[in-house]
Amino acid sequence: MFIYDLNHASLTALLKEWDEPAYRAQQIWQGLYRHLYNSPEQFTDLSKSFRARMAGEFDFKSIQPTRYVDSSDKQTRKTLFKLQDGNVIEAVLMRYDKRRTLCISTQAGCAMGCVFCATGQMGFKRHLSSGEIVAQVIYYARMLQEEHQNVTNIVLMGMGEPFHNYDNTMAAIDRLNDAEGYNLGARRFTISTVGLVPQIKRFADEKRQVNLAISLHAASDKTRTSMLPVNKKYNIDEILDACRYYIAQTGRRVTFEWALINGVNDAPEEARNLAARLKGLLCHVNAIPLNPTQGYQGEATTRERALAFKQVLERAGIPCTIRMRRGIEIQAGCGQLAGSVTS
Ligand code: SAH
Ligand code: SF4
Repeated sequence: MFIYDLNHASLTALLKEWDEPAYRAQQIWQGLYRHLYNSPEQFTDLSKSFRARMAGEFDFKSIQPTRYVDSSDKQTRKTLFKLQDGNVIEAVLMRYDKRRTLCISTQAGCAMGCVFCATGQMGFKRHLSSGEIVAQVIYYARMLQEEHQNVTNIVLMGMGEPFHNYDNTMAAIDRLNDAEGYNLGARRFTISTVGLVPQIKRFADEKRQVNLAISLHAASDKTRTSMLPVNKKYNIDEILDACRYYIAQTGRRVTFEWALINGVNDAPEEARNLAARLKGLLCHVNAIPLNPTQGYQGEATTRERALAFKQVLERAGIPCTIRMRRGIEIQAGCGQLAGSVTS
């Protein structure tokens, strides 16, 4: 059993079955999520025989770091992990100002097939378990611990569509959010979705404090469908309606993501259409020039066109930030390193 797949309640129940005293679960939980122990030997407050039992019953190593790449300024590190069945996933640490943001994966591959995305190009392999999602964070948290730092923010923007793997994704967030364990505040998390409408509504009903980002990328269904095939199932109107519902339920702002692609979705006209569609919505647009990938012809927009795009939105009262391409030299775009290894 992968130790990070257990939540607090199931660990407590298991140790009760083992006839251990009630505080044992708490000791282990704090060892895992406060002290970040990643092997039974490190639990030195437990007896030798109990540690041996832990070693026999629990697996601590279901995700194995196999490779990493640092950006030249050393502020960004991308790590490739091998799963037990041989699939590979990746997670990226970005240091910026006082933030140490992790970008983690929720699936090996992705079923959504967005044409510009390296993960989409490799297709769907499988869902990650909650523990496989959690363990990416613990890996980096240990690394940062050695530098007396910690993870400040987590974005679910690595490989995979988090809302396609809804239950495991939420279980992972809950585990990391647990006040008696890792205790990272819900508002420190951002889920990014391609726009799965039923799950957006479910998420709204759960009234979580986790931030929501929607990968919109186009203001017309024709353009969006050509980039994100899932738009045939849930079109822009349906997605925006779900966002309105989310805002009504939670009072929280939605972020719309936009990969600026030269000549595809970066014209001032496109920005005007977008502004019209987003009018009155509590939102923010996060635009980033496309990270080129092997399987897609499109190119990044120019800086001038990106700034012009932003200006149109802002003049229409829609806040917009242009994120620069940090991490591009280490292929930190979604799925790019794993793609280069598996293909
Ligand atoms: N599946 C989720 C989250 C993972 S992708 C989603 O699609 O939202 C995280 C973000 O990276 C999404 O906004 C996605 O559209 C964007 N993205 C994927 N490939 C990209 C690329 N080559 N250049 C720029 N952004 C990209
Ligand atoms: Fe999947 Fe997101 Fe990539 Fe689309 S952009 S293929 S939803 S990971």
